[in-house]
Amino acid sequence: MLEGKTALVTGAAGGIGSAVVALLRAQGVRVAAADRDVAAIAADAHLPGDLRDAAYADGLPSAAADRLGGLDILINNAGMITRGRVTETTDADWATSLGVNVEAPFRLCRAAIPLMAENGGGAIVNVASCWGLRPGPQHAVYCMTKAALASLTQCMGMDHAHQGIRVNAVCPNEVNTPMLRTDFARRGFDPDDAVAELNKTVPLGRIAEPDDIAEVILFLVSDSARYMCGALVEVNGGKAVS
Ligand code: NAD
Repeated sequence: MLEGKTALVTGAAGGIGSAVVALLRAQGVRVAAADRDVAAIAADAHLPGDLRDAAYADGLPSAAADRLGGLDILINNAGMITRGRVTETTDADWATSLGVNVEAPFRLCRAAIPLMAENGGGAIVNVASCWGLRPGPQHAVYCMTKAALASLTQCMGMDHAHQGIRVNAVCPNEVNTPMLRTDFARRGFDPDDAVAELNKTVPLGRIAEPDDIAEVILFLVSDSARYMCGALVEVNGGKAVS
C-alpha cells in the first residue's frame, strides 16, 4: 500500500528515527534520511545538517523531493530534551529546544505542504510526547515544546485536510533510545538498571522499544489511517501521565 511512496524522516540516526526509516523502507517507501550525521544509515537519499539552521530546515522538503522524485510523507521526529525547571533553564537550552522541537517542524511543514498539495496530498507525522499533553516534573521547556508541537499538529490537521494532507502526532511515554539512556547516564545512573526500574512502572511491564512507536507512525501514514487528521495518538503501554 505504501510501495513507491517517498518520505523524509528527521532525526533519522536516532532511536525512533532509525526504526522508522527501516520500517518505511521495508514497505517499499523510498526514504530521505535527515540528521546531523546520516553517513551510517541505509537510506535512498542522505541529507545531513543541523535543524537549527533555518535555511537547511526550509530547504529539506524540496531537497528530499528532488532526490526522490516527490514527497508523500514527512516524519518530524528529531528532538532534544533539556531537563530542569524554568529557573534552571539557560538561554541556550531555550533556543535549542524551541529551534529543534518547534521551529524546525514548523519550517519543514510549511515547506512540505505545498509540495504535497501539488501532488494531490500526503501525510505528516510529528513525534510529540505524552508530556506535551500533560506535563511531567522537572522538564518545563521540553514539555512546553511538545505541547506546542501537539497544538500545531491539531491546527494543521484541520487546515490542510481539504488538500488531502493528513497531519497527526504520536505521543510516546518513555522509549528505550539514546535520548532516555544518555539522560540517565548524565545523571549518574546505570542506563540498564534505570530502564529495569522504569519497566516496573509501566502497566504492560516494559517501556517502549523504538519499533513500538515506529509501527504506530507507519499506521498513521498508511491508508488505514485515511480518516485521521490532527490526532494526538498516545503510545504508552498503559502508563498515562496524570
Ligand atoms: P534520539 O536522541 O535517539 O534521537 C533524536 C535524533 O534527533 C538524534 O539522532 C539527533 O541527532 C537528532 N537531532 C537532535 N537535534 C538535532 C539538530 N539540531 N539537527 C538535526 N538533528 C537533530 O531520541 P529518540 O528518543 O529517538 O527521539 C525521537 C523523538 O521522540 C524526539 O522528538 C523525542 O522528543 C521524542 N520522544 C522520545 C521519548 C523517549 O523516551 N525516548 C519519549 C517521548 C517522545
